[in-house]
Amino acid sequence: MASIYGFCGGVRAAVSKAEAAAIAARDEGVPCYLYGDIVHSSAVMAGLEALGAVRIDSPEGHEPGYLIIRAHGIGDVMRCRFADAGFRIIDATCPVVLRNMETLREAGKPVIIGRRDHAEVQALLGCRCVPVIEDEAGAASLPGDGYQAIVQTTLSEKLLASILSCGKFVSATSICNASEERRKALRAILGSVDAVAVAGDAGSANTMELVKIAQASGKDVLLASSPSIPEAFLCYNRIGLTAGASAPDSLIDAVRKEIEGNG
Ligand code: SF4
Repeated sequence: MASIYGFCGGVRAAVSKAEAAAIAARDEGVPCYLYGDIVHSSAVMAGLEALGAVRIDSPEGHEPGYLIIRAHGIGDVMRCRFADAGFRIIDATCPVVLRNMETLREAGKPVIIGRRDHAEVQALLGCRCVPVIEDEAGAASLPGDGYQAIVQTTLSEKLLASILSCGKFVSATSICNASEERRKALRAILGSVDAVAVAGDAGSANTMELVKIAQASGKDVLLASSPSIPEAFLCYNRIGLTAGASAPDSLIDAVRKEIEGNG
């Protein structure tokens, strides 16, 4: 097992805020909504939906109630739209993302480095509309230099280094500690295992980065989104296990039991 895996502080706090809000809304008899996926985990979302929370993307057409903002944040305009419509906002945005939003608002010549379709990048764009750089070609096409980069917290280190190598940036925020620690802990076990199981969802960028790191080592890698592990994978003698920052303990424990039960 990797020494660091699973829920990071930001996700743990977001899930706990969301659960408390969903229970409070149910007790008060008011609607409870989730702005997008609170975290990229179908198991977490299913748990919140079981408490009565409903996923929405805008206030229109919904009776006001609690609105839980996802760990990846929300743009300023959308936040105002919900507030103006009378929703009671429970902000579960990760503090690291909130800090990056502040940096973006204050920067003199900002760009965002990340995947344009990722929820965190979308939330950043909702705070300030600036160019999004997804790869080296995007960086090369920026006119001039002196840019301040706000980096998606879960981006691959390799991709980030290749983008920054163009020399057009005077500063850049970093990948978050939680992502870095989970990657480092995975790399530390790769030499002593025959295969790797990564618990988490395909929609989670940091989970998929763990999958890519394990794959790059040449080992067989399984993305375990559920405890159901294929027989062929269980034939390996030494299976390493890690989990993305949004993978709940329940999923990790179930995957571990499945592997150990067959080990
Ligand atoms: S992975 Fe990083 S940015 Fe995302 S919630 Fe965790 S600490 Fe925050």
